[in-house]
Amino acid sequence: MIGIQIFLKPGKEQSVKRFHPWIFSGAISDIKGAPKEGDVAEVFAADGSYLATGHWSPGSIAVRIFSFIECVPDRNFFKQKITRAYECRLSTGLANNPSTNVYRLIHGEGDGLPGLIIDIYGSVAVMQAHAAGFWHLRQMLADIVIEVMKGVVVAVYDKSEGTLPFMANLGAENGYLAGTPMGGETVVVENGFKFKVNWLTGQKTGFFVDQRDNRRLLADYSQGRTVLNMFGYTGGFSVYAMKNAATVHTVDSSPVATTLADENVRLNFADDTRHKAITADAFDYLQEMGEEYDLIVLDPPAFAKHQKALANALQGYRRINAAALKKIKPGGILFTFSCSQVVSRDDFRRTIFVAAANSGRVVRILHQMSQPPDHPVNIYHPESEYLKGLVLHVE
Ligand code: SAH
Repeated sequence: MIGIQIFLKPGKEQSVKRFHPWIFSGAISDIKGAPKEGDVAEVFAADGSYLATGHWSPGSIAVRIFSFIECVPDRNFFKQKITRAYECRLSTGLANNPSTNVYRLIHGEGDGLPGLIIDIYGSVAVMQAHAAGFWHLRQMLADIVIEVMKGVVVAVYDKSEGTLPFMANLGAENGYLAGTPMGGETVVVENGFKFKVNWLTGQKTGFFVDQRDNRRLLADYSQGRTVLNMFGYTGGFSVYAMKNAATVHTVDSSPVATTLADENVRLNFADDTRHKAITADAFDYLQEMGEEYDLIVLDPPAFAKHQKALANALQGYRRINAAALKKIKPGGILFTFSCSQVVSRDDFRRTIFVAAANSGRVVRILHQMSQPPDHPVNIYHPESEYLKGLVLHVE
């Protein structure tokens, strides 16, 4: 027997049989053993037949499943999983690519390791555990990453302090786990553009790795346009826009972000006066700005982190999109995103539809965007498709 044993209520095995990687606490009839947060748990149907193996947590997601086949979850087991994820990045042409050295190696459920994120910044891997199970295994996982990515990754940094459940009280402290510590900052390349990334102080693991393909599309659309990059953070979209645009304004409410956006633009376009970074609140700026932009990017933070916040979040998306649609120049292009997992693609599209109708403009959808292949969607877990975007043409 491995870890604890969890028995489901009759009928509750259906979603596990369809390979959904979460077991909710309400589905459980009995737990055998004295469970501690992050323990390995074997899950059984009411008739006693084996279903899956995962990590147990006391929250509403009680088990995060990493195997649907009876297994011994030892070093070798996880080495295989990480190797497969790396092979997938190699096969998509992302790893080992001279023009991009920043990508996601492990994307939680998308890579069969729910609760674990690992991003690669050149020769440094930054790990984030979102549940106790993989945090307990952090040292082993870090050693495996160094081994699997030999010659590429030389250091692994754990940044789980802020992502582990607060109630777990695990006493996590961010820091290097393996390899040679590399300070906190590096310059990465994405599609040939340079970005300064600081994983110690930056948001998430340091950079929003998931917008790579959408930023590239933006470069194509920015030809000769006056661009507003709202919620700009590191200036990811701004740098790509600078390739072709007439002017680019980056707006963010955080002065740290606007300084960083300025630095990143200068890193790629030294002494170029077409860019300006503005520290302001998005809602105020959109209300007060003139009708000067013919390309606007709206990439806000997740407005809804929980199902309960959904209605307010949709209202927030509607408001900012309505404001942008009202002010954008005729013939303008709007790139609009939602990264909230609880907002479905349909919810988002409907919200933009209402914003468009309220603005009284003629709006066409030109592209429907999603997340890149290093953020794979687990086909049995539709929730892992979290990034949704639309490119709109506004008459
Ligand atoms: N587009 C970015 C990622 C955006 S992250 C990229 O490609 O990397 C969201 C950003 O929104 C953060 O930098 C945060 O500081 C900013 N933000 C949050 N609330 C805001 C508000 N009300 N007004 C303006 N910016 C805001």
